[in-house]
Amino acid sequence: MNLVTMNKLFLVLFALMSFSVHAEPPPVEIHDQLAAQAEPGKKIALTLDACSGKYDADLIDFLIQNRISATIFATKKWLDRNPQGLAVIKAHLDLFDVEDHGERHIPAVIGKDRTVYGIPGEPDVVHLRREVVEGAHAVEKATGVAPHWYRAATGEYDAQSIREIDKLGYKIAGFSVNADNGATLKKLTIEKRLKQVKAGDVIIAHMNKPQSDSAEGLAVGLAYLLKSGFVFVRLDQVDLKEIPEKAPKRVDGTQGR
Ligand SMILES: [Zn+2]
Repeated sequence: MNLVTMNKLFLVLFALMSFSVHAEPPPVEIHDQLAAQAEPGKKIALTLDACSGKYDADLIDFLIQNRISATIFATKKWLDRNPQGLAVIKAHLDLFDVEDHGERHIPAVIGKDRTVYGIPGEPDVVHLRREVVEGAHAVEKATGVAPHWYRAATGEYDAQSIREIDKLGYKIAGFSVNADNGATLKKLTIEKRLKQVKAGDVIIAHMNKPQSDSAEGLAVGLAYLLKSGFVFVRLDQVDLKEIPEKAPKRVDGTQGR
């Protein structure tokens, strides 16, 4: 082997090494729809994230008045800070399924200095496990019902986190329609997004920012969906299937902050 060839080989080796060290694959946003249903019908799921922050009473009151079922992804942080909101949810567990959104709202990406939308991820796998398991304990302690679904802060995951969450026994809850981009969208945009909902869609919105337009926009959009004959199911009643081909609808970076 001549020197030039050897140098090329070294270059390739070096590039490969630096790829494996530095160019970790970016985290993915998981997109899901309802798995095929036994009985036909226009079923959809509304999921509401309670990241940190406050309780959007207008939104929850609207759901109760209109008998709309929803799955709430709550963090321990939110549950600790919002006893009044929790009391309302607990009084309506016929409508609301409460699932795990983590202990402290940390994205499911592992590695020193890794971030999602500027929010730091987990330094190692032990911290990720704690985020998932302590979030679940908090939900069970607060509601008396153990969660089976997990949605990480920002809705993004790396490969190692996906494996770990699965090993811990939780199903990852993606979505197909991002209604409010972390409670940052205007009322009319939220309405427009909800009017495009199709049977089988999983909607994500937020119930932790009462100052946002989310409650108002969702009220109009959800009323429209009810009138159109859609039936709202909770994630404890159904299963989800991944739709990897779907173009990403990115969650806003300020989500839940
Ligand atoms: Zn969140």
